[in-house]
Amino acid sequence: MEHTQLVLLALLAGLLVGAAIVGLVVGALRARDRSMAQTAVDVPEGVEAMLDAMDDPAFVCDTSSTVLALSPAAEVFGVHAGEVIAAEELKRVARVARDTGSGISENLRLRRGAAPAEARLVAVRATPISARLTLLVLRDITERERVEEMRRDFVANTSHELKTPVGAVGLLAEAIESAADDPAQVRHFASRMQAEVTRLASLVNRIMSLSRLQASDELRDVRDVSIDEVVTAALEAYTVQADAAQVTVVRGGTKGLWVRGEPQILTEALGNLVANAIAYSPQGSKVGVGVKLDDTVVEIAVTDRGIGIPETDQHRVFERFYRADQARSRRTGGTGLGLSIVKHAVQRHGGEVRLWSRPERGSTFTIRLPMTEAPDLDTVRPKPRRKSRKTSTTPVPAKGDTA
Ligand code: ADP
Repeated sequence: MEHTQLVLLALLAGLLVGAAIVGLVVGALRARDRSMAQTAVDVPEGVEAMLDAMDDPAFVCDTSSTVLALSPAAEVFGVHAGEVIAAEELKRVARVARDTGSGISENLRLRRGAAPAEARLVAVRATPISARLTLLVLRDITERERVEEMRRDFVANTSHELKTPVGAVGLLAEAIESAADDPAQVRHFASRMQAEVTRLASLVNRIMSLSRLQASDELRDVRDVSIDEVVTAALEAYTVQADAAQVTVVRGGTKGLWVRGEPQILTEALGNLVANAIAYSPQGSKVGVGVKLDDTVVEIAVTDRGIGIPETDQHRVFERFYRADQARSRRTGGTGLGLSIVKHAVQRHGGEVRLWSRPERGSTFTIRLPMTEAPDLDTVRPKPRRKSRKTSTTPVPAKGDTA
């Protein structure tokens, strides 16, 4: 009997404790709802609409760093409505702005998503908009910084590259002065000076070409360009160099192909490849310039049997001022800018440049550009061919073909 009473008592106590717990939980939930309703009311009118219209990531948080309203782009940085800010750095910036009562700006490295997502450089501006609320506006400045860094590098490298020939010209001028009584010596120093000046001029021209190509994304004078004319002009520009180096340049492939673009830029790009092929080939060897159509892509390949490029350097030769063979490049008056110009010029035309090379075997640089129809209806139009089919090498007469 006593035992039954004890069991009943225990049950009663259990029920009471359970009810108390349920009461506490319900109370706590209501209090949270009340506080959320309270904070929701806190976000001043119009702020949500303003955030909604913003392109940049931005959000408003309260004193507990809980996000109350946000722009659509903010989610990219892991900021979500009703959640506490995940990034400690962001939390800190918000806290400092709140504590000091004034706006602050900082550049932070933040990930877009979880690791290993790449960390972005983000300019953060935190501004208190009331006693409890802080507005944070984020701007991804990674790209801007990269371009700025590139520009700084370019200026530094360019000045460095210019110093060498300018210094040489100065020294040669001094040498001429002190050898004034010896005509043979004067002639010798004068011809070396001329070589340095030529090198300087070519460097300046290339620097200007490259900065023009990098300055804007648009081509200025776009028209139909005959590839035959581009090849002719590029080869003509380097006949003297080819003769001097005793290298024979052989031209072949499909004729009558056209692309859209700026003829001077394309001619300069192809000319740079031809110049390199000549400069890095042994005497008596051949350089080939071949044109063909690969589906709807015009391919201009420049092949040499020269020194080739080691595999480790192949992806770097397109960088500004990068020279795989330093000594040889300087000897041949190389600027280290030729391939960088080629890459930019071709990319600007919606194309790409490919490289195949083996040390001691030679190299093939291929410019690939989107084909366009021949502009004149009288012209025999080349038909796009499938990759698997062999491309004809029969010359097709084209208007304006000066070859
Ligand atoms: P450079 O004016 O020094 O030739 P480029 O930008 O035209 O500069 O080329 C970069 C480097 O790539 C060269 O210094 C050279 O080492 C290498 N290179 C370019 N073309 C060839 C080629 N056809 N054969 C071998 N090496 C080449």
